[in-house]
Amino acid sequence: MTFNPDADISGGKASRRGRNTGIAVAGGGVGVIAIFLISQLLGVDLSPLLGGGGGGQPAASDSALEQCLTGADANENVECRMKGASASLEAYWETEAPELGIAYNPPQDFILFDQATTTGCGSASAATGPFYCPPDQTIYIDVTFYDELRSRFGASGGPLAEMYVIAHEWGHHVQNLDGTLARSQDGQTGPTSNAVRVELQADCYAGAWAANASQVADDSGVPFLQPITEAQYRDALSAASAVGDDRIQQATQGQVTPHSFTHGSSEQRMAWFKTGVEQGAGACDTFAVAPADL
Ligand SMILES: [Zn+2]
Repeated sequence: MTFNPDADISGGKASRRGRNTGIAVAGGGVGVIAIFLISQLLGVDLSPLLGGGGGGQPAASDSALEQCLTGADANENVECRMKGASASLEAYWETEAPELGIAYNPPQDFILFDQATTTGCGSASAATGPFYCPPDQTIYIDVTFYDELRSRFGASGGPLAEMYVIAHEWGHHVQNLDGTLARSQDGQTGPTSNAVRVELQADCYAGAWAANASQVADDSGVPFLQPITEAQYRDALSAASAVGDDRIQQATQGQVTPHSFTHGSSEQRMAWFKTGVEQGAGACDTFAVAPADL
């Protein structure tokens, strides 16, 4: 998705942490990290993350992000794009959440980190996929994840694919506000489990935002984003497909075990992103859908 070059993204919520702090990647061997990556990919985490306390809290270094001021910056640079997406998502949900009967408050923060950082959910390392941490209501991402998405998981990439990831995590924040997120914590897994319903709803919310993003404007009335192109839409579907449980299980364990699904199959994730795009956030009640239709 392309930003309008003169859109004002300076109000986007995003912080930079950990650049050149030299702190070590939090504990755990390669095996632990691989398992962890699978469970965390676009996921929500309520359990402690890798390792213990990590290496302490690096000082924030936001100076680069402070230079991200316009849509043109967001088109050029991935971190500015994150800040721009944040500005758009924030404006979208301020209006949309009340429509759904949800009292909206923004996330506490949206943190881009390098290598490792401490969070309200424990330590996160570079191997951690992007996630939303409910206790501190903060979204975390190491943007090198986007390289992983392309190289390890075969997504086609592109700006909308990147922003889909953030929009999905923003969806978890909305779910946290209305209590839906907690329904994923009943210990059940499988294609029709509450965990999967929560994830698919976040995908649907991401689609709803993407479809409406060209209507969401900055304070001067300039829409942050231009309408989605066909190619960008395909890229977003490719990203949704790449993080399906079946795709990941096939790649990592050589077989698919649906009973252990926590995020939904590739087909489910693409379908619900599409539902959001075509029908809006009001059509995202994945809990109202019969198991056979999920
Ligand atoms: Zn998720």
